[in-house]
Amino acid sequence: MEVALKIDVDTHQGLGIGVPRLAAMLEREGVAASFFISMGPDNSGRAIVRVLRNRGFLKKMFRTRAVAMYGWRTVLSGTILPARPIALAYPAVMRDLRTRGFELGVHGYDHVRWQDQIDAIGDSGVRAELHDAFEAFRAITGESARAFAAPGWRTNDAAARALEKAKIDYRSDTRGRGPYRCAIGDQILATLEIPTTTPTLDEVMGRPELPDAAAVMRYYLDEFKPDTLNVHTIHAETEGMGQLESFSVMIRALKERGAKFVAMREVAARINRAELPVCEIVRIELPGRAGWVAAQGPDRSVGQ
Ligand SMILES: [Zn+2]
Repeated sequence: MEVALKIDVDTHQGLGIGVPRLAAMLEREGVAASFFISMGPDNSGRAIVRVLRNRGFLKKMFRTRAVAMYGWRTVLSGTILPARPIALAYPAVMRDLRTRGFELGVHGYDHVRWQDQIDAIGDSGVRAELHDAFEAFRAITGESARAFAAPGWRTNDAAARALEKAKIDYRSDTRGRGPYRCAIGDQILATLEIPTTTPTLDEVMGRPELPDAAAVMRYYLDEFKPDTLNVHTIHAETEGMGQLESFSVMIRALKERGAKFVAMREVAARINRAELPVCEIVRIELPGRAGWVAAQGPDRSVGQ
């Protein structure tokens, strides 16, 4: 069983607190992982407010435990409190990840803007988000980013075409079955797509059949498939903070079952692109997640 851990970092707090804790735990366990970092401002309060806005903001805030999960500073970031920078606030954390041998990639610039408005900001807006994100990455690390993971698993043709021009090694923008090449109309993109294959913790938490951490862990241990590449996305704000202990237990259980952990860049490097399926990107809805996400469509052809 092969497991690629994709760690999305969406917030200031996630990078400042969650990432160092995760990195220390993963290093102790000898586990490879790929960190994807939002490079711009932390407007996550706006996303949380949007979710809660409709009826009874405060009541809903307590019921959904948004504050317990994210803390007040993050819940209000970009609303009544100013948005804090994410990557630019913690360049040393990013450099430290690289020194420890972890993979680093870009998780957009303004996560909330991308996730909420990708179709509204137009081609130039999408290109500007990507440009700012890649420039910030270069400024902090001194290197060009080699991988991109779309905020909120949202992408469109403009984003796909702009990333094709960026000549990165791979993208991880969608949910799906396994690595593939994306088709836009008649065009088959060269950039490899490595999709997330398992549901995220925030999608499964709260399911009535999974009442506690032990049940959630059993669910995941069944969910990871042998003889295949499992790409599991976690969040620095969740598995790196409130859920760190449960996540460490899961890592040890996976190791006991013989799981081999790989960085996504290793997957990208060994893949023969000519053998990959070609698929369109479709939009689907997932249980436990609001709105649409981009997903791997049916195989159009194999080995072409
Ligand atoms: Zn994210």
